[in-house]
Amino acid sequence: MALFVQKYGGTSVGSVERIKKVAQHIAEFYRQGHDLVVVVSAMSGVTDQLLKLASQLHPEPSEREIDVLLSTGEQTTIALLSIALHALKIPAVSLTGAQAGIITDGRHTRAKILNISPKKIKELLRLRNVVVVAGFQGQNIEGHITTLGRGGSDLTAIALAAVIHAQCCQIYTDVEGVFTADPRIVPTARKIKEISYDELLEMAASGSKVMQARSVEFAKKFKVPFEVRSSFTNAAGTIVKEEVHTMEKVVVRAVSLEPNQAKVTILGVPDKPGIAAKVFSRIAEAEINVDMIVQNISDHGLTDITFTVHKDWLKKALVALEPIVSEIGAREVRATEGIAKLSVVGIGMRSHSGVAALLFSALAEAGVNVQMISTSEIKIAVIIDEEVGKKAAQVVHDAFKLDQFV
Ligand code: ASP
Ligand code: MG
Repeated sequence: MALFVQKYGGTSVGSVERIKKVAQHIAEFYRQGHDLVVVVSAMSGVTDQLLKLASQLHPEPSEREIDVLLSTGEQTTIALLSIALHALKIPAVSLTGAQAGIITDGRHTRAKILNISPKKIKELLRLRNVVVVAGFQGQNIEGHITTLGRGGSDLTAIALAAVIHAQCCQIYTDVEGVFTADPRIVPTARKIKEISYDELLEMAASGSKVMQARSVEFAKKFKVPFEVRSSFTNAAGTIVKEEVHTMEKVVVRAVSLEPNQAKVTILGVPDKPGIAAKVFSRIAEAEINVDMIVQNISDHGLTDITFTVHKDWLKKALVALEPIVSEIGAREVRATEGIAKLSVVGIGMRSHSGVAALLFSALAEAGVNVQMISTSEIKIAVIIDEEVGKKAAQVVHDAFKLDQFV
């Protein structure tokens, strides 16, 4: 018999019918003799609805009150799921994050977990209860309710699995696992059996929305293997775990496409120390997330700096840069929208050569122009026109034969 942590996301508990299904699924595990800690999100759409209500009352609602408000979403689900389990004659007890012993720092709406004392959870498990814990929330040392950032229920599940030494951590979601590409973009994409933490992290940074990146980082740090699987089917999902040697056989594990990118180019920048520092300090002060950065070789002491941001940040970036352009003596700033980032990710890249060559050849054959390139040890990313993104993802997926091996 094993100790399971199961996490059900918002869509999996999005209606009374679905909560009943989840309860039946849990009941099966329970009746096989397993111990279960179940973490749930708010029913789908609820968190957004609550945020909307608050914004109708105040343009900048207090973050402390936002946490009190949003935590009710998950609190609703734990009670409903426990009631559904009772209807199946399964003993279940719901716990809020605070009751489950989750202590965080005081940064409301984006708190970090400091400590978990699972005494209550363990006590309830010993009495053969299913323990249903509200995801995404905790309390700070003074006892104020905190939340862990959007998508934070994943983090609750991984962190609980770590401290109670669960044998199995399952993240139930509305997709069947991690795919070699988004199947809506690349229809021949297939489910990946096993993937390393690092690959999933690179994919998350490249626009794949499978899991909250912080949760994957946490799982990596505490070596918690977990499975991402669907709550709508019984199919096995994708195991995410520490890298093992055989994983390197696969050169490229997945292709990600991130649309809605924008490019900012500062033209005619004096090529001397301190300029890039000035530009990016200003961008950082405005709390804008920069992705790729490229600087050209200089010509007559002048160079160009280009960086990409999500298109929603473009206006803010341009406003932030405006005063600095004349200050650093740059010629002009240009903005381009309608671009996308295409990335190939795989730990096998470390030990195989020719990945870049194959990627660029595939794109060239399809007539896709590469505007910017960036690499990490296990990723190559290119900026291309958004218009050709889908086609590019398909040809690259084909070129690396991602539809072929298991
Ligand atoms: N309910 C929260 C959100 O929508 C947390 C979660 O779902 O994981 O972000
Ligand atoms: Mg969610």
